[in-house]
Order: sequence, then structure tokens, then C-alpha cells
Amino acid sequence: MARMLIAGNWKMHKAPSEARLYCEKLLELVKGVDDRDIAVLAPFVDLPVLNDLLLGTNVAYGAQNLFWEEKGAYTGEVSAPMLAELGCRFVIVGHSERRQYFGETNESCNKKIAAAINFGLVPIYCIGEVLEQRESGATFDVLRDQLLEGLSGFDAVFIKDLVIAYEPVWAIGTGKTATPEQAEKAHEFIRFTVAREFGSDLANYLRVIYGGSVNPDNAASLLTMPNVDGALVGGASLDAEKFANIVKFDG
Ligand code: PEP
Repeated sequence: MARMLIAGNWKMHKAPSEARLYCEKLLELVKGVDDRDIAVLAPFVDLPVLNDLLLGTNVAYGAQNLFWEEKGAYTGEVSAPMLAELGCRFVIVGHSERRQYFGETNESCNKKIAAAINFGLVPIYCIGEVLEQRESGATFDVLRDQLLEGLSGFDAVFIKDLVIAYEPVWAIGTGKTATPEQAEKAHEFIRFTVAREFGSDLANYLRVIYGGSVNPDNAASLLTMPNVDGALVGGASLDAEKFANIVKFDG
């Protein structure tokens, strides 16, 4: 069984001064928790603070996006080696908000995943269907395309540490969580697709985490499903206490 990963996505919240207070509090709240991985994914400007406070602790950290080139004339972008130098372990790729508002595609995700891995970062590759796709029965087709296009051209060894986040778009920030059974079915399908494409060793080892309105009340029911290896938590991760309660779910 893969080691659980509970990751908080702060989205565009928390200036560096707020990040500092949050991290101090979180470290206190999750002191001694060492049987699962904990991470916070923060805005770029917070990363020096996280580097200062979290490096070497039981709370890893990372960014919410990156650009695939190493350096160059790409105003406003941030590269994988820049994140690596700040001690980032993780980076989100293909979050639905980036797909929706910033034109992220499976193809751009593919390049970003390659760049992240080449610089030692662990990509958290987000996939998931919108409501219309679920209602029309297209969920598995969407997930398959996102997986195969996003991971195209990689071999199993290259993506061995990759994390897949199944985030049904209709459940993100809406308070509408997928039922544990819906999450389990999607995760099972993701593992099955990865097994067919990359082999069962990778599929068994790969962490598939769930995101979409996870909170302290529903965390245990989702996180105890057999194919759910963790959670990507948005809104509820903004409060250190709520996030720590999710991290410490009983399961
Ligand atoms: C997310 O941002 O990845 C997310 C799952 O958000 P929320 O928990 O707020 O639905």
C-alpha cells in the first residue's frame, strides 16, 4: 500500500506574512505525525518562507504551477530548477483552474511533468471531468485522454514517483464531494489505465489522491477507500487546524 499523501492547495491565498504564521501553527499541530506525507502547495512568493520554516520537517512543500523551459525570455514564468533551489518537493500540474482560466492542456501538462521530473520535483498531475461529462457518461473517456496525453512518451521508471490527483471539477470548491464509491471507481479506473499503459508495477506503486471539497468531516470516509492514497485539499487547507484534522484522520 502506498504511503498516504495529504496535500493542501492554498490557491491564490496567503501573503508571505500569513504563510509564516500558518506554517508555525501547522508544525505544532502535526508534530510527530510521521506515518503519512504532508505537503502544502503555495503561491510562488511564499516559497522562501516555506524554505525557511519547513525544510527538513515532516511538512513538505511545493508550488502550484511551473513552466517547462529552464530559463529564457518567458516573462512571468517560473521554472523547475528555480523551484528545486527553494527546496520544493512537489509541484501541481494541470489543476482544473489552470485548465479553465489559463489555457492549460494535456500537451502543456506533458511538458511540465517532464520538466518537473528532470529537476527532481514530484508532479501532482490533476485530472478530472466536468459535470456535463459525468452526466453524459464520459468520465472514463476524459480521464483516459488526460492520462494518456499528459503522460505520453514517458516510460514507467521516469514517472515512478508521480502523483495523480483525481479531482472531479464539479466537486472543487463547491462543497459537493464525490461519494467514496464514486472516488473509488475513478481511482480504480486510473490505476487500471496506468497498468495497461505502463505496467502493473507502476500502477500498484503510484499514488492516486482525491481532491474536491475534502473537509475534516468527510476525509476518513474517502481516505479509507482501497484505491485512495491521499487527498488534495483546497479550501479546507487554508485553516491550519482544519488541515491538521484532515491530516490526522482516523483510518
Ligand atoms: C483544489 O483546489 O484542488 C480543491 C480540491 O479545492 P477544494 O478542496 O476547495 O474543493
